[in-house]
This record gives sequence, structure tokens and C-alpha cells, in this order.
Amino acid sequence: MGLRRWAACQPFKKNPPLPAGEGWGEGSSVFSHMPKPLIVISAPSGAGKTTITKRILAAHPGELMFSVSATTRAMRPGEREGVDYFFLTREKFEELIRAGGLIEYEEIFGNYYGTPTEEIERAKRMNKSLLFDIDVKGGISIRTKYPTESQLIFIAPPSLEVLESRLTSRETENPEVIARRLARAEMEMSMAQKYDHVVVNDNLEAAVNEVERLIFG
Ligand code: ADP
Ligand code: 5GP
Repeated sequence: MGLRRWAACQPFKKNPPLPAGEGWGEGSSVFSHMPKPLIVISAPSGAGKTTITKRILAAHPGELMFSVSATTRAMRPGEREGVDYFFLTREKFEELIRAGGLIEYEEIFGNYYGTPTEEIERAKRMNKSLLFDIDVKGGISIRTKYPTESQLIFIAPPSLEVLESRLTSRETENPEVIARRLARAEMEMSMAQKYDHVVVNDNLEAAVNEVERLIFG
């Protein structure tokens, strides 16, 4: 069934042996560990998690896939429906909540964001680990529901000043929205200690390498 990645995390099931020639044989990778099925990357807005997540997904298309969230926020230039997010109206999002179609959701900066249950099913079918770019509360919800299958990585900015300058230079939000995102950063930073790992994104290359090492060992 191709569910080795998931089966490996079930405490009540024995790890099936790897079939010969399948999976990560010797020499197939510089990394040695099978990633956890659910890898959560969280950070205050502007700390660089989207940049880091995209880099890691591009380097490991066979092992990882992105969890596409649903949101009611407006699409940014360059974003694509069904790739970056499922962009929904508030009515549709609330319908999805009522139908039980979300594993978790939060209202952030005046918009809904949530993880469709179907994303977990999709990852299981494809036997890939799912990489989440979600907020700290969403990350804690995932860990509560999937304690043995999840790994939580927090990306911290080098300082609040750097965070502000990254948000401003991204030019995707107006000053009022930037102020709201900075105000929330403090709460998010205070939850970093609940995560399994904290990576400071000062030098981008170093941060990508560190996150990769944490995921793949
Ligand atoms: P997030 O997804 O956490 O909101 P982004 O990945 O969109 O953040 O990054 C915010 C801005 O900062 C982007 O313009 C990105 O190119 C830039 N950025 C990300 N990491 C670094 C870094 N290490 N050094 C300098 N700029 C960075
Ligand atoms: P942005 O508008 O910058 O894309 O995202 C704003 C915040 O919402 C970020 O912290 C992002 O990680 C978070 N987010 C995106 N999708 C989800 C989701 O499905 N659930 C939760 N809880 N947060 C999400």
C-alpha cells in the first residue's frame, strides 16, 4: 500500500522491513533518517518560512509534499489557486468547518486559515511526508492530534527589526497589515519553546541546511 512512512510511526504496529532496493538505500542520500510524516514549519510572518519551505520542497520532491491550506485572505501576486492555498470565501470556509473538512483552523489577521483533512489523505496515498507552513496554534493542534507522527520546527528572525524590514521589503502588505503582523510576532515568539527545534534565519543558506538536517538527520 505504500504507507511505510506512516506505519513506521504507529507505536502499535511493527516496522515492516524495507523491501530490497526500495527506499533510501546506502549511497542514495547524504541523509540517514526517514522524515516524520507531518513536518510543521512555523514562524512569525516575515521570518522566512515560505522561502525556506519552498527551497526544501524543491530539493526533496520524492519525499516531501506541501500541505495546501484553505484561506479567506486575498491572493498575492504570484500565488496560485490549489498550489499556494485554496482561496475561499468566508461562506465556503465556514461550510468547510461545519462539514468537518478541516483538521485545524485559526482566524489570523482577520482571515481564516485551515488545513483540509484531505491533505493528510493525499500524503498517505502518495507515501510522502507533509510539510506544513502554518501558525503556532495550528502547529500545536497538529502535534496534539498526531503526537508521534509530527515534528515541529520554529523559524525565528534574528531580531524584530530585521523582521520588520523583511516584511516591508516584501511589498505584499500595506503598513497597517504589517503593523498587525508585527504585533502578533511577540505571541508567536513566546510559543517557540513548545516546538521541537528553533532555527534562526539569519543567513538563508545556513537556515535551509539546518532545517534539512533536522528533517532528514
Ligand atoms: P514568511 O513566509 O515567514 O512570512 P517569507 O519567506 O515571505 O516569510 O520572507 C519574507 C521576506 O524576507 C521575503 O522577501 C524573503 O525573500 C526575505 N528573506 C527570507 N529569508 C531571508 C534571509 N535569511 N535574509 C534576508 N532576507 C530573507
Ligand atoms: P500568510 O497570509 O502570510 O500566507 O499566512 C499568515 C499566517 O497563517 C502564517 O503564520 C501562516 O503560517 C499561517 N497559516 C497558513 N495556513 C495555515 C493553516 O492551514 N492553519 C493555520 N493554523 N495557520 C496557517
